[in-house]
Amino acid sequence: MTATVMDGKLVAAEVKQEVSGRVKHLQQQGVWPWLSTVLVGDDPASETYLRAKHKACEEVGIKSENHHLPSDSPQDKLEALIDRLNHDDRVHGILVQLPLPKHLEEDRTIDRLDPDKDVDGLHPVNVGKLASGTEGLVPCTPKGVVRLLQHYKVQIAGSKATIVNRSNLVGRPLAMLLLNRDATVTICHSKTKELANITREADILVTAIGRPEVRIGPSYVKHGSTVVDVAINRVDGKLRGDIDFEPVSKIVQYITPVPGGVGPMTVAMLLENTIQAAAIHAGIRL
Ligand code: NAP
Repeated sequence: MTATVMDGKLVAAEVKQEVSGRVKHLQQQGVWPWLSTVLVGDDPASETYLRAKHKACEEVGIKSENHHLPSDSPQDKLEALIDRLNHDDRVHGILVQLPLPKHLEEDRTIDRLDPDKDVDGLHPVNVGKLASGTEGLVPCTPKGVVRLLQHYKVQIAGSKATIVNRSNLVGRPLAMLLLNRDATVTICHSKTKELANITREADILVTAIGRPEVRIGPSYVKHGSTVVDVAINRVDGKLRGDIDFEPVSKIVQYITPVPGGVGPMTVAMLLENTIQAAAIHAGIRL
């Protein structure tokens, strides 16, 4: 068996086209979708991610701007900026690029966001909605994983889905999304014992470990299953995921590449969340 490669670039391009149409629809009604991002400090990886997000906004006609604060900015200065963006009627989406410098409090910062502008879906109101099955603004990476599975018609309902990650950004929200779609969900993490025995049972295996020394090879996966690799590791200047792509792709049915799998979907979902926030703000159904 040779797996079908789930092409995140291709699906993301389709999503962008849809978003473009919706942007025009909103503009006809006098709404100009607008995303504001906030970067504190000069982390090169964060700068790269933000550049990709702003470029994507430009491609689909979403206005975007970045607010760059110095790395030694105090918490109250960051919160004052968030307050200003919360109250700016032109701004529909606010994204605070994480991680923040160590002296700043991530939870307090996220709590400060207007939940209706929280396009990363991390505010407790949005987390609560997702956990109770309502799904307001949902974190972009897990939303992108689900969209990719749906595009390739991977059966979620009734499947055994295992996620190796329990972060607020990836594992927890993805577990809720899959549970809301009737999967039987297992979450694994660094304290999980006999990981391979658990992952080998999965019809859908999602990994987001992000430690280059931990490799997910064929002995961790079920034959004929679907594997999604969220991780981004930089090894010798190259991007690599958790999964040993070549040997695993010989035994599974669907697999994502790194790069070109989940990454582009994350950016595409941010665009979707921004127009969702713009529509909420204007009281328009898309
Ligand atoms: P994180 O908070 O560090 O989460 C890593 C998870 O892996 C944790 O739950 C950790 O368990 C678990 N883990 C670590 N070592 C393990 C082991 N030996 N066996 C099993 N589980 C283990 O990182 P994150 O922010 O969620 O990101 C994870 C990865 O996804 C990173 O590579 C990141 O770059 C990537 N990512 C990609 C995208 C994208 O768009 N493609 C978006 C977001 C993140 P504990 O909880 O016990 O520590």
